[in-house]
Amino acid sequence: MAPDDVEELRAIVGQLRTNLEARGRSGLVGVVTTKSAPKAAAPVAAAAVVEHEHEHVNEHEDGGGKAKTGKAGLKVVRDELGDCKRCKLAPSRTNLVFGVGNPDADLVFVGEAPGADEDAQGEPFVGKAGQLLTKMIEAMGYTRADVYICNVLKCRPPGNRNPEPDEVASCEPFLKKQLAAIRPRMIVALGKFAAQCLLRDDTPITRLRGGFRSYEGIPLMPTLHPAYLLRDPSKKKLAWEDLKAVNAALARVGIHPPRPPAG
Ligand code: URA
Repeated sequence: MAPDDVEELRAIVGQLRTNLEARGRSGLVGVVTTKSAPKAAAPVAAAAVVEHEHEHVNEHEDGGGKAKTGKAGLKVVRDELGDCKRCKLAPSRTNLVFGVGNPDADLVFVGEAPGADEDAQGEPFVGKAGQLLTKMIEAMGYTRADVYICNVLKCRPPGNRNPEPDEVASCEPFLKKQLAAIRPRMIVALGKFAAQCLLRDDTPITRLRGGFRSYEGIPLMPTLHPAYLLRDPSKKKLAWEDLKAVNAALARVGIHPPRPPAG
């Protein structure tokens, strides 16, 4: 069997295992043999940002059982990920980059994949693009510790190449579980890759950005990736408009940043 086939099989088995475990936890039995991508969602009006009940308790009803949330929930996900070798990125990584911040955050930022600095330090968004993201978060009136920051991929693709489908297939279930544990009120998808992946929509990020969408009932704002903003600083004002729209939408459901946002 060709190495590519082995990798593909490994990814499929990983996905199947995750799927079956999730179905087991929710009391469902049987195997889904076909999986159609969810239909691309229509943009969600900012005014329609959901006002769902969102108690930050450590457990919630999940079908037949109790799924842990917050810090305890993230620990379950981290433990399940373990010393992950589900995809071909494992051998070249220095550190697996799980995520950082508040396990009960109202606001989650999702990027693409760790770069060299993140791989070295085991923390997302700590390099040049990360420093810009930190400034963007602070301009919104938050700190990195107030929000949660993670990526679609937990391991660095060699040379920062684009994530490949088998890598996403192995890793995305863990992002989904992270988001299910945190249960944020808002997700900001940073750049084309995170936005297209979470929304199952291959519309270019230049068209996706700036409009609220829904990820499993959670409002999601696609915006430009900080690395792109470093390459084209003239686009920073567009990203700032998106982040101001996020603050405004959160304010409508009574969520305000701990500090006043920048003008
Ligand atoms: N770019 C990303 O998408 N994620 C990181 O963690 C760093 C850079």
